[in-house]
Amino acid sequence: MILLTINRKRLNLHLQELAEIGKIGETGVCRLAHSKEDRQGVDKVKEWMEEAGLTTKVDGFGNLIGRIEGKDNTKPILILGSHIDSQPYGGRFDGTAGALGAIEVVHTMMDNGIIPERTIEVICFSDEEGSRFNKGIFGVRALAGMLEEGELERKDKAGVTRREALKEFGVDTDLTQSPVYKKGDITAFLELHIEQGPVLEGKDKPVGIVSGISGPIWLTVTLEGFAGHAGSVPMKMRQDALVGASEIIRKFDELVKEEGTDTTVGTVGSMQVFPNSRNIIAEKVEFTIDLRDIDLEARTRLEQKLYQLIEETSSTYHLKYDIKEDTRSEPRYCADWIKKVMKEEDEKLGFDSPTLMSGPFHDALIMSYISDYGMIFVRCEKGISHNPLEFAEMDDIEKGVQLLYASALRICQEKRVDDLVQDKVGYSSVDNN
Ligand SMILES: [Zn+2]
Repeated sequence: MILLTINRKRLNLHLQELAEIGKIGETGVCRLAHSKEDRQGVDKVKEWMEEAGLTTKVDGFGNLIGRIEGKDNTKPILILGSHIDSQPYGGRFDGTAGALGAIEVVHTMMDNGIIPERTIEVICFSDEEGSRFNKGIFGVRALAGMLEEGELERKDKAGVTRREALKEFGVDTDLTQSPVYKKGDITAFLELHIEQGPVLEGKDKPVGIVSGISGPIWLTVTLEGFAGHAGSVPMKMRQDALVGASEIIRKFDELVKEEGTDTTVGTVGSMQVFPNSRNIIAEKVEFTIDLRDIDLEARTRLEQKLYQLIEETSSTYHLKYDIKEDTRSEPRYCADWIKKVMKEEDEKLGFDSPTLMSGPFHDALIMSYISDYGMIFVRCEKGISHNPLEFAEMDDIEKGVQLLYASALRICQEKRVDDLVQDKVGYSSVDNN
């Protein structure tokens, strides 16, 4: 039996070294997509991939892809990965823990003389964050064939188009190269990521197994009343759009808390008031709604009640209303068979990791359209992320990567996985060690 533990020291060094590129302050990083710092990061991580035995390339979309051929390269491949770009005022662990963890998985296999049965690719997806061009998960959408029209013409704040930025980054972008993968090419995609939320900390657990990524509905609600002098219009005659909005916002919060599931979240995060003056009754109010749940039925039920609430409140306050739908994403569930593999490996490791869903989306969300996928979360302090204060303990990252390693090894070595992926039947473990 080979000693199957990852090299914590090496992983820690890589995390620290990468955090030096684009470093801001003591603990923050800024490696915006396709920037000079992003390129430096990619070049550094590329070296580590090569040290792990992967052959590497940077594709025309800025994705860094490492590959190790399996014994049987006709089998659908296993992909591991995450991202190494960051928010403008970002932390050291978002994306990097999973990207460098994936390289560590392959490096550990090599250290143990393991040649995988099936080919493994490790991918650092480009521009996950979306901050620079106001649209993210770019690299992975290119791989999956989900780019939208005009995507390369989007401009950053300095007026640089994505096409120009990619050229500056050092790649030739050719849209006909997308998609790269199609359904059936990939057995599984595994991503480790810091949780970016407080659930694991609350449960006092270092690692979690993700059940799925919840889909958001984004709405913009506009209420229209009638402006008037704050000093003269009697209360009973008012059509105050701001009072109506306040009531909807408070009751929406109450609705989600009381009738939602454990996984429903609802947020009003932005509001505009017109004419926004202290002595004029608000004529028009526009506010956003973000409603998410992994449980689509629960989300739909609450969405209906929300519409009812908007209608009733508008009628009470004599307001006109309009609801615009900006985004409607469906929840994407992790594959049962992958969760089962993770659960079994987790039990062997003695972590007793809970299952939880992901509120934020990740590269895995897009990969879910071309492959079965699974995700591992690592606890992060107070759930803080997209912030230089973001912090995850090395002990926790090590445990998460250990589980990633054990799960990846099972999936790339076990022969039965192929039947399972085709039939989606129950999974039973065959120990072929
Ligand atoms: Zn991330």
